[in-house]
Amino acid sequence: MKLTVIGCGYLGATHAACMAELGHDLLGVDVDIEKVARLRAGEVPFFEPGLADILRRNIAAGRLDFSTSMQSAADHGTVHFIGVGTPQRARGYGADTSAVFSAVETLAGMLRGEHLIIGKSTVPVGTSAELATRIADLSSNLATIELSWSPEFLREGFAVEDTLRPDRIVVGTDPTAETTGAAAVIGELYREVLDSGVPMVVTDWATAELVKTSANAFLATKISFINAVSELCEIVGADVTALADAIGYDNRIGRRFLNAGLGFGGGCLPKDIRAFMARAEELGAGRTFRFLHEVDAINMRRREAMVELVESACHSDLIGANIAVLGAAFKPESDDVRDSPALSVAGQLALRGASVTVFDPKAAANARRMYPTLNFAETARAAAADADVIALTTEWAEFVHMSPDEFDGVVARKVIVDGRRCLAAAQWRDAGWDYRALGGEVRRNPQDAGTAGAGPAVHRGIAHSSVQVPRPHVLG
Ligand code: NAD
Repeated sequence: MKLTVIGCGYLGATHAACMAELGHDLLGVDVDIEKVARLRAGEVPFFEPGLADILRRNIAAGRLDFSTSMQSAADHGTVHFIGVGTPQRARGYGADTSAVFSAVETLAGMLRGEHLIIGKSTVPVGTSAELATRIADLSSNLATIELSWSPEFLREGFAVEDTLRPDRIVVGTDPTAETTGAAAVIGELYREVLDSGVPMVVTDWATAELVKTSANAFLATKISFINAVSELCEIVGADVTALADAIGYDNRIGRRFLNAGLGFGGGCLPKDIRAFMARAEELGAGRTFRFLHEVDAINMRRREAMVELVESACHSDLIGANIAVLGAAFKPESDDVRDSPALSVAGQLALRGASVTVFDPKAAANARRMYPTLNFAETARAAAADADVIALTTEWAEFVHMSPDEFDGVVARKVIVDGRRCLAAAQWRDAGWDYRALGGEVRRNPQDAGTAGAGPAVHRGIAHSSVQVPRPHVLG
């Protein structure tokens, strides 16, 4: 099928390349001239594992191109995906949906014949209904345009896999329409994916919009729940990692998204829960969703707690202290620094007088743009030169697996603060380091050494969950 994707950021560029990979003929459109030029040249303008390969392969096969012209999108295909950004408003905590309205309104005015517009961006409930009215007002009487909302659930770092093998496809359609072709078209577009057993939920617009925001609110709540418990664990000297392993064995709870530490960030979860609260407030259900305010507050408090932990590791005086911050991206396998807890910690440490040097395997360029006053190093070892404290803020695999020996003769003091509770604590302590973890006590059984990455270690039926098991935070 001939398809277009409007908005070629993390979501849109991935979606366009993956739909081309499924055999469709794609045109991606974005207002960012530089981004379009790079994509056309087969260059992914951000870091996303596996994306460059399918981008280049499909451009070479003639199935994928990019443009800045909306008219060329209107002329190219009959199915148009909307993947533009919906950031937090400059004032207040609602979503800024102006790019969605602008893209849809511009496109609708240019279309002739039968078209289907499929929204992928995350929008407040009610947006589709409002857009449909705008489309009806703006479209030519030579056009018949159906609007569907099919929210996207991809996780940065796993975007290709999640687009080609999603957990589910949700299709929201006009509940007042007598007939709708959206489900059939989407079913056809994703035939290969659906044939592999991926479920498709067909529902109305409002439900589809709410599925996405509810999923993100639930995930954020799970993370903040374990971080709230970790605050209590710190007070009583309990081990929140062992606790998470133990409650996670309960299938009703599950272990994922129960990693205590620096909490969530990025371009989605924080702004999505705020937009959810704002929309609930507008609809008269603000009181019901007040708990999300606490979810947000618990999460933001982790950043302060990390700064305070580093400060206490510097004898409560950060002025002139050299701090190496390992990690700038909001999570590993991404270069996204939007609302990154790691960068927020680095910035606050600098504001308190520390000399901060950041290293991140992929996000340094984005981080430097956002915080030009921080120092940046090319390696973890270089960042740690003369450091009084190493602060681990993003659990990149190369940090999780680094050895304390790498810093021998490099740091000024052997002090490490593990903001993600992902290091093998005993290994660092055995090497003479003062190891401290955000969220309190970390214990470990000597025989568990080296099991990192294998999931909670189980020996002869006994779960030694106090082993430090790195689990990537996979935030959508
Ligand atoms: P992004 O900022 O990386 O990309 C948005 C793109 O839209 C930019 O390239 C921008 O130039 C372009 N754009 C803005 N206005 C435009 C217009 N009028 N016409 C054409 N292009 C325009 O954002 P993103 O992370 O890709 O997120 C996009 C949407 O997808 C958001 O609603 C987000 O919440 C949702 N989402 C993102 C993810 C994710 O992991 N990034 C996952 C699921 C859902």
